[in-house]
Parts: sequence; structure tokens; C-alpha cells
Amino acid sequence: MKQDESRRKFLADSIKGFGAAALSAHLYATASDGVKETRTETNSADPKIRFVIHGGAGTILRSQMTPEREKEYRAALTEALMTGYGILKKGGPGLDAIEAAIRFMEDSPLFNAGKGAVFTSAGTNELDASIMDGKTLKAGAVAGLKHIKNPISLARLVMEKSKHVMMVSLGAEEFAKEQGIELVPESYFYTESRWKALQREKAAEEEKNKAPKDKKQEKSHAELFEHEYGTVGAVALDKDGNLAAGTSTGGMTNKKWGRVGDSPIIGAGTYANNSTCGISATGDGEFFIRSVVAHDISALMEYKGLSLKVAADLVIDKVKKLGGKGGIIAIDKDGHIAYSFSSEGMYRGRVGADGQPIIEIYEETERFGEPRSQSKKPA
Ligand code: ASP
Repeated sequence: MKQDESRRKFLADSIKGFGAAALSAHLYATASDGVKETRTETNSADPKIRFVIHGGAGTILRSQMTPEREKEYRAALTEALMTGYGILKKGGPGLDAIEAAIRFMEDSPLFNAGKGAVFTSAGTNELDASIMDGKTLKAGAVAGLKHIKNPISLARLVMEKSKHVMMVSLGAEEFAKEQGIELVPESYFYTESRWKALQREKAAEEEKNKAPKDKKQEKSHAELFEHEYGTVGAVALDKDGNLAAGTSTGGMTNKKWGRVGDSPIIGAGTYANNSTCGISATGDGEFFIRSVVAHDISALMEYKGLSLKVAADLVIDKVKKLGGKGGIIAIDKDGHIAYSFSSEGMYRGRVGADGQPIIEIYEETERFGEPRSQSKKPA
């Protein structure tokens, strides 16, 4: 068996192996569990390893969530989280943990990545992903894919099996064929809810365009794109102290003209550097690109000595001032985990000090660790 094939088999087995048994009482860990835990906790059962994931940021309100839906999200996030963490616990590399967790979320229709990707204006699905290794600073990214079941795996192959960093569209899919990656027909990505979201978005757009010219106001980003949350990402610190990060998305509903967001842009949506931190972002991609979010956080740590949480809050506030919403998940080289987001919610999960999953969704639980108000000032 070729090395890649055997790695993919290992990842697939890891996903299957975790199973429902692990969806224990901890699955429904409450928000307060998260608040109690401090982000500076490094004295966990397994002191070296850390794992954190997200499933997208946006207007996620408790009032709009049904208990069934919330349960589904918590179950999927827990399984993705523990799939990746299980690999780290066995001593596996962070890149494997990230790839496995993201593949799991790409295969779920709940998330805007892989199977559940949103639709473009043309009624197609165009997928983007990226991954970065904090030890070597190597990175791989793909964009505009129409037939790749698991874009994160292709991004990893770009990093490991080519001399390039980023490949797009048909060329990237040619490379995928050469690498033996799984291709699927475009119909694989059809989900009714994402299709309906596109119709809603198109109707709203038409309505706006009908308005008399002088009454037409400049459209905000939120009006241009319906934000269908669900971009996914993961950051790992493995037993060797290596940081890695990855992100995968279908982008924004109704996107046009080959639009690409921040998720596959190294330094914007994804960044990892063993001397600072690993980051995966989600939100209004245009603003995250313009703010070079992930690298900016790392640079504030590297050049100004800021803590992860302080740097992350500063950059997310900067994005907000520009008019963009969203957030990041991150781990620093010492194992501190941080979230920062300006949206009403962000699907997210981390493994707590006791090795158990902590899943959070809504805004009020964002303040674990340093309160946001205090953390705005440089340390
Ligand atoms: N950042 C992604 C993009 O702009 C979307 C998201 O995170 O929800 O493509």
C-alpha cells in the first residue's frame, strides 16, 4: 500500500473508530463548563497535546435554534473533535488530527464544507481549503474545486507532494486525479437547505435591484452575501510540540465570478508557526483577507510579544471596525487555547483539561479565559 493510501486508511479508520460510544454525557457539556476552565490551563491529563475546532461563525442565536438541531451540531462537533484528539493521544502528528477532524465535518451536511457546501450564484458548489505545518512553515491550499469530496486532503497533498502552495480549479483537480484523491459528481454536493438558501438570497438580491436607483444604498457585505455558517477549521498542538492548522469551506452563498474567500489564503484564514501559534478563521472572507487575520495575530505575538488572546482580540476588533464579522480559534506554542469572535455565535469545541470535549455555540460563552474587555490592552 502506498504511504498516502495507508495514511488515508488510517484517517478513515480513526473517524469510524471513535463512534457513538464516546458521545457520552460530556456531549452536552454546558456553557458554564467552558467558562470555568481557564485558557492558561496547561496541566491537563496529557500535558503536551491540545486540539480545538470550529464549525463556522455567524448569527447563531439560541432563540433560533431548535433543541434537535442543537443536539445534531453538538454531536457532530464532538465526534470531529474527539476523532482528531484521539489521533493526538495516540501520539499522531497534528496534521493527521486536523485532516481527520476536518474530513469528518466535510462529510457532514451540517457544515459549509465538503458535502454541505453552499451554492454559488450559478448553482454550482466551489470548495476551498488550506493547511499549514507550523514546524516547517510549509503550506498547501486549494480553491474553486467542484469534484473533490475532501478538499482538506487535497490541500495537504499540495503541501506534501508538490512544490507549489496553492492550486485552483481544473488544475487542482488534475493534480487530485494524479494523487488518487476521491472525486465525486457535482450532484454529491446538493443539499436542499443550501439550495433553498440560494433561492432566498437571489430573491432578496432581485428585490434590492428593483429599488429605484436613487434609493439604492450601497450594499453592505452582509447584504451581498447571506452568511450560511459552517466553514470548518481545526488547530492542533501535538506531543512533539508542533502546531498545525487547517480550514475548509464552500465559501459564501450566491458568490460570483470565481470568488475566493480567506479560507484557502495562507496568512488570512489559516496560519501555523511553531514559534507563535496556529490559527483557523471563519467569517466575512473579504475582510479577513484585507486584514490578513491569521498572520497578523501571529505577527503581534512574534514582534510585539502579545499573548495569543490579546493579539486575537485586537485583530478581530480591527476586522469589525472595517465592517467584517467572524472569529478565530487558536492554540499558542505553550498550549493556551483561545477563541475570539465578533459574530453572535461560533460553533466550536476544544478538549478540556480533563481530556473531555467542551462544545460551545453561543456568544455568551466566548469569555472563557481572559475577559474580552481586559484583553484588548497589550499585556
Ligand atoms: N470565510 C469564509 C469565506 O469567506 C466563509 C465562512 O467562514 O463562513 O469564504
